[in-house]
Amino acid sequence: MKKFTIAPLSLALALAISGCNSPEQKQANVEVQAEQPIDVAVQNPFFAPWGTPHETPDFAKIKTEHYVPAFEKAIAEQQQEIAAIIANQEPATFSNTIEAMEYSGNLLDSVAGVFFNLTSAETNDELKAIAKKVSPMLSAHSDDISLNADLFKRVKAVYLQKDTLNLTTAQAKLLEDSYVGFVRNGANLNAEQKEKIRELNAQLADLTLKFGDNLLAETNAFEVVISDKAKLSGLSESVIAAAAATATERGYEGKWVFTTHRPSITPFTKYADDRELRKQLYLGYTNRANNDNEFDNKKVLAEIASLRVKKAQLMGYKSHAHFVLEDRVAKTPAAVYELLNKIWPTALEKANVEVADMQKLVDAEGGNFKIAAWDYPYYAEKIRKERYAIDEEQTRPYFALESTLQGVFKTAQKLFGITVKERTDLPTYHDDVRTFEIYEADGTYIGLFLADHYVRPGKRGGAWMNSYRKQYNMNGVDSTPIIVNVLNYPRPTENEPTLLTFDQASTLFHEFGHGLHGLLSDGKYRSQTGTSTPRDFVEFPSQVMENWMLQPEVLAMFAKHYKTGEVIPQELVNKIQAASKFNQGFATTEYMAATLLDLNWHSLEDSEIRDTAKFEQDALKEWGLIGEIDPRYRSTYFAHIFSGGYSAGYYSYIWSDVFGSDAFAAFQENGIFDQATAKAFRKHILSSGGSDDALNLYRKFRGKDAGIDPLLRSRGLKD
Ligand SMILES: [Zn+2]
Repeated sequence: MKKFTIAPLSLALALAISGCNSPEQKQANVEVQAEQPIDVAVQNPFFAPWGTPHETPDFAKIKTEHYVPAFEKAIAEQQQEIAAIIANQEPATFSNTIEAMEYSGNLLDSVAGVFFNLTSAETNDELKAIAKKVSPMLSAHSDDISLNADLFKRVKAVYLQKDTLNLTTAQAKLLEDSYVGFVRNGANLNAEQKEKIRELNAQLADLTLKFGDNLLAETNAFEVVISDKAKLSGLSESVIAAAAATATERGYEGKWVFTTHRPSITPFTKYADDRELRKQLYLGYTNRANNDNEFDNKKVLAEIASLRVKKAQLMGYKSHAHFVLEDRVAKTPAAVYELLNKIWPTALEKANVEVADMQKLVDAEGGNFKIAAWDYPYYAEKIRKERYAIDEEQTRPYFALESTLQGVFKTAQKLFGITVKERTDLPTYHDDVRTFEIYEADGTYIGLFLADHYVRPGKRGGAWMNSYRKQYNMNGVDSTPIIVNVLNYPRPTENEPTLLTFDQASTLFHEFGHGLHGLLSDGKYRSQTGTSTPRDFVEFPSQVMENWMLQPEVLAMFAKHYKTGEVIPQELVNKIQAASKFNQGFATTEYMAATLLDLNWHSLEDSEIRDTAKFEQDALKEWGLIGEIDPRYRSTYFAHIFSGGYSAGYYSYIWSDVFGSDAFAAFQENGIFDQATAKAFRKHILSSGGSDDALNLYRKFRGKDAGIDPLLRSRGLKD
């Protein structure tokens, strides 16, 4: 992802990184009404201050027909601003070039801030059609800037004087990121090299698309058809009914069909008693796009890996992973390998204990076979049921949405001294949305928090945080943040408030962790504030926040039965905590094995086309992966890295979890509401955004680097 200071780019980045488990968005085929009445430009509400409290976008005034003209004008404005920077007769300086770029594109930031939030949270066919129209306009616009040779000349001129400019840390980082952003787009290459990069990009685009198409075809093609009802033993009625419906769809009326799609295979491998069928379906899943047919991905991915090395080396990097990791916290593949090396043996050891446990169960049942990969989900589920069964209906009454939200606010209040005041008179984009003003203890206004909790047809799935306006300070003028948390909880019914599962309640804490990152931001440059941090860092403040929910002191504040007011019994909490650590040997090992495959493929330093099967086998053998576990993704269906945006980046989840666990350990050492620790966390992490190298920020907070023991303990891999 390009990473410098142009509004649509930083916004796209913010959208990409703050979305937790966001599915792909689909575009609709509806034409935009192109002709606008002439007076729209005059009345377009984007072209004047909102005039509302806190300059909240006045949603009621925005009509669908305002967006396209607003985008057009916003793009034209930034084009003029960039042209003026280039045309400046003065020699390039930090202020007239780097800061001027950073300060450009205000209108675009404001229009895109509203539009892209709504296309996720409250969309319709018209907005989808506009998105389809403006997306190419925006990417052409950002290309015009990031590939502008004259602009780069000025940026480079400033960059070459960087050591004599007396810049602050944030300024030095802004300069570095601007320069590196251009370089990573090929700015330093000659014409011939640029042409070669274009060719490589085109080939890569074709191959990654092909990888995805092959995988989809293979996922759709595989099926296990069952005609004997006895073979469905162990499965629930709803799973059986779904399999019958799939059978009808596929022309097997009266039979049952299971496929390698998750909702079908997951319950089957977990619950079906028939071992042979579990094996068939499991192998169907793990051999997708690996069947020596027209949809085989082995050659496709080997070529992708090879082209990526060529491209990285043209740009001056040793490998694709070196290129990708340069602007992440990890910086180098060696740093990621080092971390994985530390965690791997412990995870594997725990997995071996889990296997031994399951083998005992098989032996006791007189199974007379060795646990295989297709037995793992089935026997793990048996053990989970026996030792950790929790009835969700028992916990939900303690997690009413309203009291959980108050629990989140109270936690933030106790940590950071902030206060929360609900307002009911501010404009919102939907009646579901609630608005809260956030204040310092001394009454200073911080920002606005929007909470959009309920599932709706126009909202995409999942949960995420985003900003309508980020905190920043431009030419001495402060912009206060407008931050939103969007979730998909069920609505209350006539008889019952919205009651959350334990995971849903945890998500509310998680998203508010992102929210605090945006709200408590205190920086100068928009491209560095709030959640504008590297991908392997951005989940860290939200992961930390989840920990408070599990503390007895915090649960006592909010986890009260919605009818009786009784606080959740500690015994139930202990059970939930124990269950959360179950099967973590498997979960960590299968995830890490996929991470290792990703890194091995992308750390290659030559472009020789590898034999995929052998490459994968050698890699896993070298690391000593046990036969009972497969990588979460094997190479031929590892879409994250071969057709998605995660190449050399699949490690990010565990990387930010290391930070999250270690940071909470600081609170456990000093007291979970210790004010000095909270103050340091706020100052160096939440308020600092991406204004400094993340490892420096972390050291300032913690006094040392993050260790892995807190992570191992939180996953139950270590006592
Ligand atoms: Zn998150």
